Amino acid sequence: MSINKPIYILGPCAAESREQVLLTASQLKDACGEIPFIYRAGAWKPRTSPHTFQGVGEEGLVWLQEVKQRLGLPVATEVATPEHVTKALEAGMDYLWIGARSSANPLAVQAIADAIGDWELVNGNFKGILIKNPVNADAGLWIGNIERLEKTGVPVIAVHRGCNHQPCWAMAHQVRLARPDIPMLLDPSHMSGEAVKVPELMKKIEELGLDGAMVEVHCDPKSALSDNAQQLTPNQVGHTLNPILSRLCLVSLNSPSDGSEELNWLRVEIDELDERLWDTIAARMEVSERIGKWKKAHGVAPLQPERYQQIVEKLKIKNEEVKNKSLSTDFMLHIWELIHKESLRKQE
Ligand code: PEP
Ligand code: MN
Repeated sequence: MSINKPIYILGPCAAESREQVLLTASQLKDACGEIPFIYRAGAWKPRTSPHTFQGVGEEGLVWLQEVKQRLGLPVATEVATPEHVTKALEAGMDYLWIGARSSANPLAVQAIADAIGDWELVNGNFKGILIKNPVNADAGLWIGNIERLEKTGVPVIAVHRGCNHQPCWAMAHQVRLARPDIPMLLDPSHMSGEAVKVPELMKKIEELGLDGAMVEVHCDPKSALSDNAQQLTPNQVGHTLNPILSRLCLVSLNSPSDGSEELNWLRVEIDELDERLWDTIAARMEVSERIGKWKKAHGVAPLQPERYQQIVEKLKIKNEEVKNKSLSTDFMLHIWELIHKESLRKQE
């Protein structure tokens, strides 16, 4: 079974009440107009803390069923156990997704895959299973999960939701290269944790040749019981996202790729590394300033020749390790001298 692209999955983080589920769905339908989408809501919420909202459970499936019947929207929910799979499929869910926390556990994914396989063998009418990247940036684990799930015969869709509210472009690129046959969606909501960042991130879909998006939308985000900072209102979807969603429908139907996606993937990888580089340098300066305070308090001069020499020797050893990665000793020393000079300036 093939799935039409782009694939859009929109709806609240969690099913909270019948009213919230139905109202968000009907407002979203108005906001999207002709743009087809799958409606999402989590019935079971595998939250980090046991002291937060854990989802309404099975009752949420009944409300999703109602959305499907009344508004004719395909529906999706999250599963974390084989029991969830059976209950969700019995309730007529069209798509299921496996969240980032379950995706970090191969045994959990295998148990879910087995339950889907059993269902599919008898019923054969399930439309697709989405697998988010694990909470840790492990491309191998994500690929392994795809392999476990595709044995069910059900279409598998990858969802890049990032780690710790940051994209993990290098991991996603690795998975894209290994499995170009598996559609990949962007989840800008969990990737940023902030509703205002969602529209900018959505631009990456076209730049990277992704296949769609999963976006959290709530009729009243402020009152949401989970992920309230990252959910858009249906009205924001209508005004801000609708033009992007419509454009992607046209792009993916009409324009053959000119191959620029690969360059864009490499560029997001570089941007990600640059960011890490600056964060690391900033963290180093912060420790250096603390050292400066200690030296002042103890009457020690900022430049200690012995320590300086020690670091240069370490750098040479490091250079031996990374030689094949095309970092010359001169280059490493040059960069380090610049950092060290700035560091001394801060300690003066
Ligand atoms: C979700 O989609 O609501 C969710 C919990 O996602 P993740 O597993 O990516 O945190
Ligand atoms: Mn969420």
